[in-house]
Amino acid sequence: MGGPLKVAIIGSGPAGMYTAGAFNSSCPGCEIDILEKLATPYGLIRTGVAPDHQTTKNVSRAYDKIMENENVRFVGNISFGDDISLETLKSLYDVVILAIGTPKDRELGIPGEDKAGVFGAQVFVYWYNGHPEYRDAVPHLEVKNAIVIGNGNVALDVARVLLSTEDEMRDSDLVDHAGDHIFRSPVEHVRVIGRRGPEHAQFSTKELSEFKDLTTAVTTTDGSIIPDHYETDDPKTTKVANNNLELLRDYAANKPDPHKRLLSLDFCLSPTHILGEETIEAVRFEKNRIEGNKAVGTGEFVDYPCDLLVTCIGYELTNVGGLPVENGIVRNVDGKVEDHLYVVGWAKRGPSGTIGTNRLDSQKVVEKIAEDHCDGGDPAKAGARGLDQYCQENGIETVSFSDWQKIKEEEEKRADEDSPRRKFVRKRDMLKLLREGK
Ligand SMILES: Cc1cc2nc3c(=O)[nH]c(=O)nc-3n(C[C@H](O)[C@H](O)[C@H](O)COP(=O)(O)OP(=O)(O)OC[C@H]3O[C@@H](n4cnc5c(N)ncnc54)[C@H](O)[C@@H]3O)c2cc1C
Repeated sequence: MGGPLKVAIIGSGPAGMYTAGAFNSSCPGCEIDILEKLATPYGLIRTGVAPDHQTTKNVSRAYDKIMENENVRFVGNISFGDDISLETLKSLYDVVILAIGTPKDRELGIPGEDKAGVFGAQVFVYWYNGHPEYRDAVPHLEVKNAIVIGNGNVALDVARVLLSTEDEMRDSDLVDHAGDHIFRSPVEHVRVIGRRGPEHAQFSTKELSEFKDLTTAVTTTDGSIIPDHYETDDPKTTKVANNNLELLRDYAANKPDPHKRLLSLDFCLSPTHILGEETIEAVRFEKNRIEGNKAVGTGEFVDYPCDLLVTCIGYELTNVGGLPVENGIVRNVDGKVEDHLYVVGWAKRGPSGTIGTNRLDSQKVVEKIAEDHCDGGDPAKAGARGLDQYCQENGIETVSFSDWQKIKEEEEKRADEDSPRRKFVRKRDMLKLLREGK
């Protein structure tokens, strides 16, 4: 022992990036490789955060600074579990840290979920954000009645993007293939539906207020179920909930406009069946009443016509690379999975919190690693050199940080005037660009 600590971080989303940043400050001599299955870094900042929320995406500038550190390397286009095993990684590095997120949608678990026209949020969002593996996931949007199930910000993002116009998305980086479908969609009615009451919705007020800016849709809700006031044990939650209730009261006062589309925010409904033959035609909901903040079925049902259903009810990790996965996350104790193996971010604690939540969480795990490995690294571990050799022997065409910058420059160059970038949506096109430049 006594050599520099050689660290492999798997996944370059916020959790992976904050982990690298924390190592840089607490363990300056260590050598960090950030392995990423895509050719592009930063996880859900690129593929999850809504295309019209560019200010949020600006956090990637801070991640660029971390990447530019001389002891940090980005190694893109290498997939843990497919291209490289945990065993190999452990043979090359002192510490392996999983930052792979929770890439699969949770299922509703009701009959009919396999019908055409039913999508999980992750699939739908990846599609409109240009994730290369989901380029063709949504074949069309020739739909009139869309339902979005969920009461978090992702549900609001999906509803807003579905009802957006080309003009409203002018300064976004919505990908062309999604824009082509969204702007031409004959969608007339989008319902966002939650199981519990309006006071329990997990919306942030800013996202809820953005419906006011939709130029071709009127937002409505049922004012009769909005309580005058809502109190919780947590003052912050109470404040947000009551701000949201105020906004919802404004929406409840809106009248449908025959010249506009309709966005309704519906509450106290649990889906029980997805109806139709091979393609979805309607969703059956059981009406709920609220007892002590819990939704309880009333035995009364309602069917809503639906030809597009997007479920935004959370995400999970499924088995990858032989990892111990339990309840949709990697089994761990405070980030430690086993000797030399750690986990951070959504793969560690599940899909909750904001981008910033991952910073503190990653810092804590790095503190734990620093304690476990205070005597430095094993000089026999080959680290970056060993990974390069492995990739060469196995024909893996990796993408470096400077390669990514070339992709990024090209995306910026070919964007329309008001848009920050026109994304590449196929990995082969990115690799072609890089090969041509070599
Ligand atoms: C649709 C959506 C919108 C959101 N919008 C906001 C927002 O506006 N504001 C906000 O604060 N938070 C937002 N969030 C939450 C935020 O994105 C998360 O907190 C954060 O991305 C979690 O970070 P992570 O690094 O754990 O996971 P991820 O961001 O998912 O990163 C995981 C990375 O690992 C890579 N990876 C996965 N599997 C492998 C593998 N086998 N091998 C190699 N690499 C792999 C992935 O490609 C990805 O780059 C949003 C989340 C979603 C789902």
